[in-house]
Amino acid sequence: MKANIFDIKHFAVHDGPGIRTTVFFKGCPLKCRWCHNPESISAKKQLGYLLHKCVGCGKCVAACPQGAHTFTPDGLHKFEREKCTACGACAKVCPADALSLYGKEAELEAVLTELLEDEDFYESSNGGVTLSGGECLIQADFCAELLKRLKENGIHTAVDTCGFVSREAIDKVLPYTDLFLYDMKAFDDDVHIRCTGQSNKCILENLSYIDKCGGKTEIRIPFVPDYNSDQIEKIAGFLSTLKNLTKIKILPYHNYAGTKYKSLDMPDTLPEKLPEVCEIKEAENMLSTFGLEIAK
Ligand code: SF4
Ligand code: SF4
Repeated sequence: MKANIFDIKHFAVHDGPGIRTTVFFKGCPLKCRWCHNPESISAKKQLGYLLHKCVGCGKCVAACPQGAHTFTPDGLHKFEREKCTACGACAKVCPADALSLYGKEAELEAVLTELLEDEDFYESSNGGVTLSGGECLIQADFCAELLKRLKENGIHTAVDTCGFVSREAIDKVLPYTDLFLYDMKAFDDDVHIRCTGQSNKCILENLSYIDKCGGKTEIRIPFVPDYNSDQIEKIAGFLSTLKNLTKIKILPYHNYAGTKYKSLDMPDTLPEKLPEVCEIKEAENMLSTFGLEIAK
């Protein structure tokens, strides 16, 4: 069994309790304006090219079977994305980290073996493994099998999801998931559509369903001024009805991903305005008035 993943991050400390290893799956059904992992949105493999890192060695020209890299007569490196089949050959020979291949077909047994290598760290820190993305649950069969195998090895499991997935996908992973890290971007549907391109109806329904089934959740709220910053009270009202919510984390928006958009020739949709510390504090206070526990 194979999945399309774009990274495995070891010693992660922000993806659930303890020290964790996080598997990032490629492909996401939402288009969040503030997405800081634009390389995760497309389900296909992609080549990232950072012009400012290129030292002009020409090794990529020789490596590419498609002729996607050329040099103009005046010595400028030209990359033609439409010719690229994302084979990764050029990224392997680039000496300057100017080229990166995002996405690879990964075998379940190989991923499991890599995850089990960190077992001692999970044990000593009450950590475990987190499946993230992109949206990992669009590859739900692979996730379910991987989570099952991790549970057979006594490892704590977490699934980081945007919730915009089928009920069938939730049902597949529910028996093997100790904690859902669940994104809540807006309560009002029109705001959600404006921010992500999709309705939040099934996201709210899936969260209620997980809660009703006894699934534990930690809610993540990205805080983006002028986009969803007026939604906190409504989100808090909804969350206060859940029985198995462990805590809530506010994720202040940042705009560090601009270079990645450029490297992928994707339009940069990042909002300009960053949150003030006092706005985050105010949002946390609002959540607290509903009796909700805030994670720092
Ligand atoms: S990833 Fe493959 S096809 Fe694309 S530019 Fe590099 S060598 Fe050429
Ligand atoms: S291999 Fe890397 S550094 Fe060399 S020309 Fe290609 S992109 Fe530039």
